[in-house]
Amino acid sequence: EELLAQNERDSLFIVTEFAQKYYAEQLKSEEGRSIGYSYFKERGYNDATIEKFGLGYSPDSWGMFTKHALKKGFSLPILEKAGLTIIKEGKDPIDRFRGRVVFPINNVAGKPIAFGARILKANPKSPKYLNSPETDIYHKSRIVYGIYTAKNGIRNEDNCYLVEGYTDVVSLNQAGIENVVASSGTSLTKEQIQLIRRFSTNITVLYDGDAAGINASLRGTDIILEEGLNVRVVVFPDGEDPDSFVQSVGSDAFKTYVKEKSKDFIRFKTEISLERVGNDPVAKAGLITELVETITKIPDAIKRAVFYKEVATLLQIDEAVLINEGNKLLRKST
Ligand code: ATP
Ligand code: MN
Ligand code: MN
Ligand code: MN
Repeated sequence: EELLAQNERDSLFIVTEFAQKYYAEQLKSEEGRSIGYSYFKERGYNDATIEKFGLGYSPDSWGMFTKHALKKGFSLPILEKAGLTIIKEGKDPIDRFRGRVVFPINNVAGKPIAFGARILKANPKSPKYLNSPETDIYHKSRIVYGIYTAKNGIRNEDNCYLVEGYTDVVSLNQAGIENVVASSGTSLTKEQIQLIRRFSTNITVLYDGDAAGINASLRGTDIILEEGLNVRVVVFPDGEDPDSFVQSVGSDAFKTYVKEKSKDFIRFKTEISLERVGNDPVAKAGLITELVETITKIPDAIKRAVFYKEVATLLQIDEAVLINEGNKLLRKST
């Protein structure tokens, strides 16, 4: 098959699709059924969901995949370039993904370009998720997990849910919520926002209900504003993420929760920051600067004006002070 490829990128697409099919097939093997498939079942995934996302299982073996791929005519260099095989001098090549359940990462056209693979039993020596390295067809800063299954939904709802993890995307889809993509634990990039913006200018951030999730949404969200999108935020009960929450309350209650709790990002940031600074005037001054900075990221002057007014009210401060600070910042940056 590889021989038919016109160039290296084509070869990478072909070998990645080959690997995706292999892992999906292995989920049906004896080992795969008893370890991988049963894991997905325990997490509440049904067969249609497993099929829809092309989920799989990588056998607990040092080189089973690599040997199989070599036998099928793929070359060692292309397996290594695709991030599927690890080669160290003087040693036998080994499979990157071993004894894990596998989430294929698809591009916007639905072609697998990389994998995220989850460990099955907690093990302090091994990361919970192992991802493909960057390759010529996989640039993690340019893709969000789930974009292929999400794009029509994002367009139809005119809104994109942004979550942290693979399992959040999969569970929400199973609950009938398709307009959802994951940043996969890295901070958002301009390219990722621009990809989402092809389908809608509205994003709702659904990060985990723990300190890490809240801090990630406070830190990572200015970049969404900078690209001119509208941002809302939902905070989940402590310890819940969209996956666990939708599995525990069901689809309708989840939708109601998101509708009722979603808040404009700048209002959310203002309220959280106010709680954090309390009555300390110096901290409050710092907070004002930070909020003004956030508002100045918004390219549209009319939207900026609306937010100056709202934040001024929340902070009980003269709106003119905020506008003045903001204009200073804007002048500096141009
Ligand atoms: P699960 O429910 O299976 O524990 P999760 O998605 O809730 O998965 P989180 O700990 O919330 O896991 O992490 C969110 C995302 O961050 C993951 O889906 C994964 O993409 C990424 N991630 C988490 N831990 C790691 C890790 N050790 N290495 C690389 N990426 C990771
Ligand atoms: Mn988390
Ligand atoms: Mn989770
Ligand atoms: Mn999580």
